[in-house]
Amino acid sequence: MSGPPDATVHDVVIVGSGVAGLSAAVYAARADLEPLVLEGPEPGGQLTLTTDIENYLGFPEGIGGMELIGNGKEQAERFGAEFTHGTVENATLAERPFELELSDGTTLRTRTLIVASGASARWVGADGEDELMGYGLSTCATCDGAFHRGDDVLVIGGGDSAMEEALFLAKFADSVTIVHRREELRASAIMADRARDHDAIEFRWNTELEALHGSREAGVTGATLVSHPDGHPSDKADADDDLARETVDVGGVFYAIGHTPNTEFLAGTDVERDERGYLRPRSDAAGRATTETQVAGVFVAGDGADPRYRQAITAAGTGSMAALDAEAYLETLAHTDAATVEGSP
Ligand code: NAP
Repeated sequence: MSGPPDATVHDVVIVGSGVAGLSAAVYAARADLEPLVLEGPEPGGQLTLTTDIENYLGFPEGIGGMELIGNGKEQAERFGAEFTHGTVENATLAERPFELELSDGTTLRTRTLIVASGASARWVGADGEDELMGYGLSTCATCDGAFHRGDDVLVIGGGDSAMEEALFLAKFADSVTIVHRREELRASAIMADRARDHDAIEFRWNTELEALHGSREAGVTGATLVSHPDGHPSDKADADDDLARETVDVGGVFYAIGHTPNTEFLAGTDVERDERGYLRPRSDAAGRATTETQVAGVFVAGDGADPRYRQAITAAGTGSMAALDAEAYLETLAHTDAATVEGSP
């Protein structure tokens, strides 16, 4: 580990300030554990990229993502949670207290760790995307949609995110085409219907994005699409007669093809990650689900362990569970330490 560790040993460090991290912070702070919350490269997490959240309980008219996150932070701070910017590069979990090395060289020490680092948007792998990301290519319509007034734009993906991005972009763009690699949408019926019913939204089925054209100066100017009547065209051989390529003029492309969990900093520790990087919390002795990982004292909340539900409300729920589990662990630790001191010669 580089740099001498700060002498402070925290009771709870929460990695991530999205809805899961904030919920964990509220619970841990109310238990007087003075949690330290690390705000990483995407402070506030994915909700800050969302306009209206209509399915978070308690807001009959919906609530903006920024507002929900802002309120959550204020709520956690009210009970004594502290926030600091920091990205964990390395975690040493084999010894106690745990040590976290941040990208600025700081080392933090903590008795428990709540991993609420969420997930980040996935990229397609099309030619030109490295150069054009942020220059007409985006993973966030809410952030960049307003730059595309009057443009024709593409949204890549067939899930709820793709529908949501397309509906948002349709407020600005002349036309929005959802490009999906097969003929059936993964999106929920309500979101799919909204997109289908919108006059400015079209679908390109069985189609994938192969290349982006443009420059950092001019932005995205076009895209090469490849189609196959059986879907998943990039899996088909180039010699296949049914494979068709077309280059279209577009002013913007938005990726909405899912997310990758931000759990890389746990590689090499005893915390179990699946092949996609999602954490696998363990069950308790009675076989019931917990938020605790294979390393006692390390807990997970939110999308980092959830490839299935990935909802704001489920992330908030697991955040509270992780804080309760951490609190119980700290109590056990205190009893064990007291017993050790009493029992020592
Ligand atoms: P998702 O449900 O995993 O959908 C990803 C989509 O991208 C799928 O249609 C997938 O195609 C496609 N895809 C994946 N990799 C691709 C590639 N390399 N090239 C082309 N297409 C690719 O992800 P999501 O839409 O981000 O949604 C994640 C979760 O959040 C879901 O549970 C969703 O319900 C929820 N969500 C809810 C709302 C809402 O209710 N307002 C909004 C956004 C998200 P296939 O279908 O062929 O696999």
